[in-house]
Amino acid sequence: MTQHINPKSVAHLPTELADRIVSQMQTADFSGHFSATDYQALLSQSGMTDTEFKLALLPIAATRAYCEISNFHVGAIAEGLSGNIYFGANIEIAGVQLNQTVHAEQSAISHAWMKGETGLKNITINHTPCGHCRQFMNELNGIENLSIQLPERPAYRLAELLPESFGPKDLGIEARLMDNQQHSYQFDSDNAAIISTIKALNNSYAPYSNNHSGVTLKTQSGAIYSGSYAENAAFNPSLPPLQVAINLLLLAGEDLANIESVVLAENASGTISHLAETQSTLEAINPDITIDYLSI
Ligand SMILES: [Zn+2]
Repeated sequence: MTQHINPKSVAHLPTELADRIVSQMQTADFSGHFSATDYQALLSQSGMTDTEFKLALLPIAATRAYCEISNFHVGAIAEGLSGNIYFGANIEIAGVQLNQTVHAEQSAISHAWMKGETGLKNITINHTPCGHCRQFMNELNGIENLSIQLPERPAYRLAELLPESFGPKDLGIEARLMDNQQHSYQFDSDNAAIISTIKALNNSYAPYSNNHSGVTLKTQSGAIYSGSYAENAAFNPSLPPLQVAINLLLLAGEDLANIESVVLAENASGTISHLAETQSTLEAINPDITIDYLSI
């Protein structure tokens, strides 16, 4: 798929560097992240410090924002422990409750998590993180070591932005978001979307409700995007599996109109369900999207 890159998002960069970034983003398999090797090559060409270059990439990440309600484009760049770099951008969908919004920090973090990262080195954001995002980040594995970078500010640790925090420990939970944990739900199928959904379910983080769950979106071209549920000790900042999957689809440069069918799988004995909210969000996107529901 050829991706459209807004020329304004790279206009602040030297021409040769901008051209190289655009050409990488226009490759068919670009899905919103740079490998550590590609990133280091771009960084070296930029002549900037690592922090300066990440800040320079933010306008590009922000072009992935889907913000029909606020028209406020937020970009984030997360660096995984592997050194790979992940874009994030906010998502709001017209006709859908505001509590289904995905913030740019949640977008970059869940993006890195879905691509196999088990922790982050740093996150760079073009606007100060809201309270909801500070709380969301407080759930992360290795949060003590995460560096949070904003334009024209020193790097922060979360403890400076969220003193006297409430977190998993207060509810007696030892697990953390992005921990390398695998559940062992099984469902026999040779359908690629279902297999991917069960994998996402087994990777989900739901220590409070036990609603291990995953969602897969299938597009008209046959591409699939799977998201795992990410819960939070303060409950409201929890990120539903549908949003995690939609985020990957948008970061890959696809459009919501490309979604043809959806699979939702969840633990039948969890204390909540994602079925109703998944149905209502998809109904607002396109009532013709079909939904397969597996309660296992
Ligand atoms: Zn936020």
